[in-house]
Amino acid sequence: MDDPVPTIGAGLAVNGNAGRHGHRTVPTSEVGGAMVPAAAEGEAIREVTSQLVDPGDAKIAVRQVERVFATKRDRVQALGPMDLDVGDGEFVCLVGPSGCGKSTLLRIVAGLVNPTAGEVQISPGGTGKVPVAMVFQDYSIYPWKSVLANVRFGLDLAHVPRKEATASAMKWIDKLGLTDFADAFPNTLSGGMRQRVSIARALAVEPEVLLMDEPFAALDAMLRMVLQDELLDLWQSDRRTVLFVTHSLEEAILLGDRVVVMSARPGRILADFKIPFDRPRRPELRADPGFTALQGRLWEELSGEVS
Ligand code: ADP
Ligand code: MG
Repeated sequence: MDDPVPTIGAGLAVNGNAGRHGHRTVPTSEVGGAMVPAAAEGEAIREVTSQLVDPGDAKIAVRQVERVFATKRDRVQALGPMDLDVGDGEFVCLVGPSGCGKSTLLRIVAGLVNPTAGEVQISPGGTGKVPVAMVFQDYSIYPWKSVLANVRFGLDLAHVPRKEATASAMKWIDKLGLTDFADAFPNTLSGGMRQRVSIARALAVEPEVLLMDEPFAALDAMLRMVLQDELLDLWQSDRRTVLFVTHSLEEAILLGDRVVVMSARPGRILADFKIPFDRPRRPELRADPGFTALQGRLWEELSGEVS
């Protein structure tokens, strides 16, 4: 299941079973110059679609999705039922305790795993070459292929002519700062560079939806910040729809238009925070008092689930 191949042309069920959204949206408001989340106590349960994404604009629509993993002895309800809408061009971060089904959800959206119930729709259209590409935590690049061949791989699969594929791959290799390493093999690269190769490979196919599963989790703190800032710049220039799983609340707030908090297994959505900071976002935002306040507010929401 840990297919290292970027998801190209994932087949996704479409049958119009619109589910109800049972989770709360948490608005944030500006108070005294610092961005402070509004009080959430006693708030009505609302539909996230009505608050954050016009249903007609949803690029990704997750409807009543559940996943059960059954073995001979066991039956594990890993996920849901859950509903989630991600708007076209929106960057949505998912946080939740370990084992709550985040990777399972991403794999379902990618078409790598079937849901036990419910469905995911990715609305067609847009300018992407493929509907979905995914970046995994563990780099997942081929050790026997050069950087260029790895980055070009999805384009080769999509039968893009070789010259054009090489040019596209080189464009992304340049953007990710790997120009001098195009002919290098992965075992000669650092972890950060390997992860850049993974990201370049996913972006080279120009997916309409980019799924990222803790892409920076294996990197040290400094490198992680560098890649976060690079990803912000890349996203700013082409505004792709992104669903991004992370353990880091700081990362989620820095990158996301929304941060969706999931419960312990089986993962459901507990809260959906709209992140109020303007774009383009600068690295210095991490030190803003409103930023740290929001981090605290998110942790309040999550801490009960983690224990
Ligand atoms: P997360 O990414 O949030 O840490 P996962 O989606 O990886 O969580 O897993 C959710 C739950 O489903 C976990 O309890 C995990 O052990 C279980 N699970 C995931 N994949 C499988 C599988 N292929 N077979 C059996 N159980 C699985
Ligand atoms: Mg995971």
